[in-house]
Amino acid sequence: MNDLPSLRIGGLTPLTTIDYPGELAAVVFCQGCAWRCTYCQNDHLWPPHGDAELPWSHVLSFLARRRGLLDAVVFSGGEPTLQSALAAAMQQVRGLGLKVGLHTAGPYPHRLARVLPHVDWVGLDVKALPADYDALTTRRGSGVAAWRSLELLLAHGIPHEVRVTVDAAQFPADRLDALLDRLRDAGTPEVVLQPCRDRQGHACVDAALLEGATRAHHHAFRGISVRG
Ligand code: SF4
Repeated sequence: MNDLPSLRIGGLTPLTTIDYPGELAAVVFCQGCAWRCTYCQNDHLWPPHGDAELPWSHVLSFLARRRGLLDAVVFSGGEPTLQSALAAAMQQVRGLGLKVGLHTAGPYPHRLARVLPHVDWVGLDVKALPADYDALTTRRGSGVAAWRSLELLLAHGIPHEVRVTVDAAQFPADRLDALLDRLRDAGTPEVVLQPCRDRQGHACVDAALLEGATRAHHHAFRGISVRG
């Protein structure tokens, strides 16, 4: 295979049913993220280069052998849009006849706009109200970028999912209510709430908070649900 993009990959999940709605997918974990979210469980993917990177050529060969068994490939991370090689890698995945999914936190709206033509579905994390972002990501301006990415996604019309990871330390009930009101006002049709989890997989938030929020806001969205 010629002209392979130099995508840096920190891991691969060969098969999942939960990362691209309704599709059997492989997940490619892109190396590198500039944010430092307080609840991040993928901190091994923060550095631009990982200790055990997988060559894209190997991943692409694996995907080629899985044609007929997989429907899609999801680029996750880390933050996939950090890497300039992403669009070329996505085009090669489509060349195999597979759909392309993207998990992003939206830190680079201009880069998101560039790759959207090569994507079939997006899972966008909206982490907080714009003013609350920087404390969570420890990066200045992160809220402006993420909410601009949401605007882009909604204006584009591409199939997508807006996910809110709820950390009880960040989200007293009134802040979660305010975030959901803001998402409604932005025109978000559907929202998935998911509890923040510790490294042992235990939810860091009371399930009653999430269930109460879905009940209180179910008229505001075409769909609002709790995952896991
Ligand atoms: S954006 Fe995602 S990968 Fe990056 S620090 Fe936050 S949770 Fe971790």
